[in-house]
Amino acid sequence: IKTYQNKKVLVLGLGMSGVNAARLLNQLGALVTVNDKQKFDDNKAAQALLADGIKVITGSHPIELLDEHFELMVKNPGIPYSNPMVKRAQELQIPIITEPELAYQVSESDWIAVTGSNGKTTTTTLIGLMLNEAGHTAYDAGNIGIPASQVAQKAKANETIVAELSSFQLCGIQTLHPHIAVLTNIYEAHLDWHGDRSHYVAAKMRITMNQTPDDYFVMNWDLPEMHTLAKQSRAQIVPFSRQGAAGARAQLQDGWLCFDDEKLFLAADLQIPGTHNIENALAAIAAAKLAGVDKAAIQAVLSRFSGVKHRIQYVQTLNDRKFYNDSKATNVEAASVAIQAFKQPLVLLAGGLDRHLSMDDLIPLVQAHVRAMITFGETAPLMNAVAQKAGIPYQQTANVKTAVPLAYAASKPGDVILLSPAAASWDQFPNFEVRGDVFIDAVKALAESEEA
Ligand code: ADP
Repeated sequence: IKTYQNKKVLVLGLGMSGVNAARLLNQLGALVTVNDKQKFDDNKAAQALLADGIKVITGSHPIELLDEHFELMVKNPGIPYSNPMVKRAQELQIPIITEPELAYQVSESDWIAVTGSNGKTTTTTLIGLMLNEAGHTAYDAGNIGIPASQVAQKAKANETIVAELSSFQLCGIQTLHPHIAVLTNIYEAHLDWHGDRSHYVAAKMRITMNQTPDDYFVMNWDLPEMHTLAKQSRAQIVPFSRQGAAGARAQLQDGWLCFDDEKLFLAADLQIPGTHNIENALAAIAAAKLAGVDKAAIQAVLSRFSGVKHRIQYVQTLNDRKFYNDSKATNVEAASVAIQAFKQPLVLLAGGLDRHLSMDDLIPLVQAHVRAMITFGETAPLMNAVAQKAGIPYQQTANVKTAVPLAYAASKPGDVILLSPAAASWDQFPNFEVRGDVFIDAVKALAESEEA
């Protein structure tokens, strides 16, 4: 554990991770300065830190601040390296880290780290559940919404931290060294931030950079790119494959999720739908098995796991219709994944904030999978046009709540009723979580009135 006593540290950018980093450093005896762009009067986080005795500078990023001889910068992962403050710190050769690195430095626990373009939260959650089910104490942390530095002090030496790490967070690690690392997949994402694909891939691969031959690196063998990337790692490569790639240790065989040829769980019994979730389950199984989790614990978790909240989350069944909440699907790409995840005919609830983007990619998917559409929000007219072009019936309504009974009326036994809005929630809600909760409540209310 590194010592921070009297070290001059600048925390650049607050947010949840910055607040936690500043608090932790303060506790460790560091001399902390926080700099956040938001003005002090509206800046609750800065106000709270000031009350803790931390020096706060708000409203802008004054470059002269760096004349104060800081020994370390903890950078918010969202601030790009092109930011003038960050550039100046690099010129001054001030080490720049992100909050998970700080958390790792003060942690005595074993770390399992998960990254990838998609499926991080689902895979991280499954691994945490499996470890806990097996009687081992594990804490989820990181990008999943619980800053790692909050967990790092709580988790003991014989316990495990399962950290979801974004590529932005990985850019700022130095010593972070997971015993088991997982790379779920690499697709085109965040290229605007990273500049180009090679930088993005390199950021992801930092998850394995401190690993040794005693460690494991779980990789998606269905993506040919991974076979090349594997050569950069010193860890033991543990491939997983849904599509039967040669050499995979976690794989789908005759409909079973297997590890080292042992049949662990029937894929058809997963409550989380779609081929992408088979991949997430395989990645989680590999990590759990490597961490010593037994078959019974893996089976128990997979049989009851209904998905991470708001991500194609199974809600309930009513008169042979299954309801799913995919409120997190705030764009066309995410809604496309959800629509394709089901074999059953769908009644789709969609609409939300209008970002003036084309919805045309949805037309063939809607045509192939969707029986009827219920639309609402700013993009209702756009979604109506999608339904028209796909040649399916649709109905426009006020909001998610009023959409639920209409969707039920339009459904047939055996159908799936899916909220996957293909748009952000801000036209009618503070965030996608609230939108998803309103949907769940409306489904419950419908079930009560139907069963009464
Ligand atoms: P992340 O944490 O990486 O954003 P999540 O587990 O929260 O991923 O899933 C978010 C959405 O990403 C899902 O609803 C689904 O649309 C898509 N997704 C999840 N897992 C995968 C995967 N393995 N491959 C492709 N898409 C996926």
